[in-house]
Amino acid sequence: DNITAARRLWRTEGDVQTCTWWRAPVIWEGMFDAALYDQTHAKEGSSVALTVFAVGRYLDAYLETFLTSAECHFMLALPVTYYVFTDAPEKVPQVALGPRRSLKVIRVPKHSRWQDVSMMRMKAISDAIESDIRHRCTHVFCLDVDQEFTGRFGPEALGESVALLHAYYYNLPKWLFTYDHNPGSRAHMDTGDFYYHAAVFGGSWRSVKALTESCYQGITEDKRNGVEARWHDESHLNKYFWLHKPSRVLSPEYCWDRQIGDRKAIRVARLQWAPKHYNTLRQA
Ligand code: UDP
Ligand code: MN
Repeated sequence: DNITAARRLWRTEGDVQTCTWWRAPVIWEGMFDAALYDQTHAKEGSSVALTVFAVGRYLDAYLETFLTSAECHFMLALPVTYYVFTDAPEKVPQVALGPRRSLKVIRVPKHSRWQDVSMMRMKAISDAIESDIRHRCTHVFCLDVDQEFTGRFGPEALGESVALLHAYYYNLPKWLFTYDHNPGSRAHMDTGDFYYHAAVFGGSWRSVKALTESCYQGITEDKRNGVEARWHDESHLNKYFWLHKPSRVLSPEYCWDRQIGDRKAIRVARLQWAPKHYNTLRQA
């Protein structure tokens, strides 16, 4: 779009890719005028649903930090509704919310396998868009809970269909991308454009509804056929974004792991991975 095109010159050092071959902008610090994005989206009446799942032990471990940090950094110029999906609504922490920001809790079952908790998010999100989100919000962002906002994550990230470059793969050759290579899975793909991270995706409510429905169909069909994609919902998401190119791509600034260490390209970490404690958290 115009704003991004005008600012692209600001990252001329050639260290990062700022545009995909299908002309979607890749959003990096220095490419955009933050205040202009805030004003434009506020004027257009954009409003954002932020969906997050906190099932089983993930609620105590991560949810409060996720929400309090979002209150400091996520879409501060716009109305935001948090949609917290959990098996334990009574345990959702009371977080002080700014004006025009609210939180809804949606009860979901606790599947015993963590892979199923992760995959079934697609179905729950599409149901919530249909019954509620589409009447309240123009855009939807779907995030993992095991992360913390540490910098501006604003309307420059909004678009019709938004994917995130995985922090561990954005600068690696394609043959290292961990797509699903099993021809028996609906997520199967031999080649692709990027390796996208399922911890962050979004778009207009229509686009996210189409994406979550399609991924859920793929997951269900795989289950019927007795197969499971290599990286579960993430494999299906990568397949979807290969067939339906995202209109906007977020740089790994939007989901960085500090354990990677300093990288010149990363001038700001806007959202960061929280420490993972799989052995204790993923027990049924
Ligand atoms: N999740 C959850 N409870 C679980 C497993 C997963 O709430 O028992 C949700 C949570 O939002 C989590 C997301 O599903 O962030 C994806 O799982 P996880 O973060 O463990 O996957 P990873 O990022 O390690 O691939
Ligand atoms: Mn995660």
